[in-house]
Amino acid sequence: MRSAYDCDVLVIGGGIVGLSTAYAITRAAPGTRVTVLEKEPGPARHQTGRNSGVIHSGIYYRPGSLKARFAVQGAAEMVKFCAEYDIAHAVTGKLIVATDKAELPRLHGLVQRGRENGIPVKELGPAQLTEYEPEVRGLAAIHVGSTGICDYVAVARRLAEASGAEIRYGAQVVRADRRAHRGVAVRTADGTVVRSRVLVNCSGLHCDQIARLTGDDPGMRIVPFRGEYYTLARPELVRGLVYPVPDPAFPFLGVHLTRGIDGGVHIGPNAVPALAREGYDWGVVRPRELGGTLAWPGSWHIARRHWRYGAGELRRSVSKAAFTEAVRRLLPAVTSQDLVPAAAGVRAQAVLRDGTLVDDFLIKEGPRTVHVLNAPSPAATASLPIGREVARRALASLSAT
Ligand SMILES: Cc1cc2nc3c(=O)[nH]c(=O)nc-3n(C[C@H](O)[C@H](O)[C@H](O)COP(=O)(O)OP(=O)(O)OC[C@H]3O[C@@H](n4cnc5c(N)ncnc54)[C@H](O)[C@@H]3O)c2cc1C
Repeated sequence: MRSAYDCDVLVIGGGIVGLSTAYAITRAAPGTRVTVLEKEPGPARHQTGRNSGVIHSGIYYRPGSLKARFAVQGAAEMVKFCAEYDIAHAVTGKLIVATDKAELPRLHGLVQRGRENGIPVKELGPAQLTEYEPEVRGLAAIHVGSTGICDYVAVARRLAEASGAEIRYGAQVVRADRRAHRGVAVRTADGTVVRSRVLVNCSGLHCDQIARLTGDDPGMRIVPFRGEYYTLARPELVRGLVYPVPDPAFPFLGVHLTRGIDGGVHIGPNAVPALAREGYDWGVVRPRELGGTLAWPGSWHIARRHWRYGAGELRRSVSKAAFTEAVRRLLPAVTSQDLVPAAAGVRAQAVLRDGTLVDDFLIKEGPRTVHVLNAPSPAATASLPIGREVARRALASLSAT
């Protein structure tokens, strides 16, 4: 007799979180039939393939938060995974540099936080900073030993292969239908129907829309923030990874200098509102998506609270001279001719109705559904533990059906 279901668990989204979830399910419960639907022709075409490629140590995050736990654990596991599957990676360490007196208490706070999270942190004066990075200037710095770099696209590909899941590319979910006691059915843009006992939503920039398609209220909206990058034409100016002291009002780390696994140095990302969820430059505008962002009260609360910071970011986005000026605080030798525009990424940032930028990872469940609703940085670093947590919840839901 034909089964009423095409699979046991259906994962929407072939980014690193969805693929890690598929991988964790088939490891924890061999024999579980997992299908992944990804709208693009291959894996990792959005956030996973458009990030800084950094394995974050976990220094920034509140002790006890999911971000802190999963980043510390995930960083070690990511290094092991890359070594096991022969994926390009390196544990390089990184510097966080204070360029203004006002940043010193926050830099000191990061040292405390890093120690609470069990991360190897060393404090440096200006002379020691120059030993690490001769061209970088600052009043003080810290060295974080466990930070690294890797190729997340290769990690996503490997997770897809090793999961043993059925992965369908070019399969955009456009409808979902939860039937009483009978699992969840989805329809893709080409009319194919896939029926599953449990649905897992890892659709990144579209996760709130998919949650609403299933009939669950996510209680948040994705507000897309683009991060623009330049490549440094004189890569010899930077040896490793150099970060500013982040502004605690934002979950973004500030424009940093990153020598990536390809040997090039990338400078960015800033944070400007994107006019479409996949709006990788100012020319990409999707009126319906933009209308949805503007109709969400949280977007207006953010605009009111952070207009001054936002105006500075906008200015640095449209003016290369202003962007260069900001970078020169860390790297005085840089000129605007050194900066070559590079591909941007867009962050899927969850925002609550009252304008709170959700800081921690957010995973919510409904009947026979698990939704990953906030998986911004460092979710690539933390993807193996996140995948296990989502898999645990999906398997619990599966055994309850
Ligand atoms: C600029 C930038 C820099 C970052 N730097 C770092 C870093 O250095 N280190 C780090 O750890 N993290 C970093 N991050 C964060 C990290 O990239 C993300 O947290 C992570 O990639 C999230 O993975 P994901 O699978 O949730 O999302 P995604 O990679 O966006 O995957 C979601 C997938 O869902 C698919 N999808 C969406 N809707 C549908 C649908 N209807 N049907 C089918 N498929 C659908 C999309 O096509 C996409 O492939 C950065 C992010 C950005 C944007």
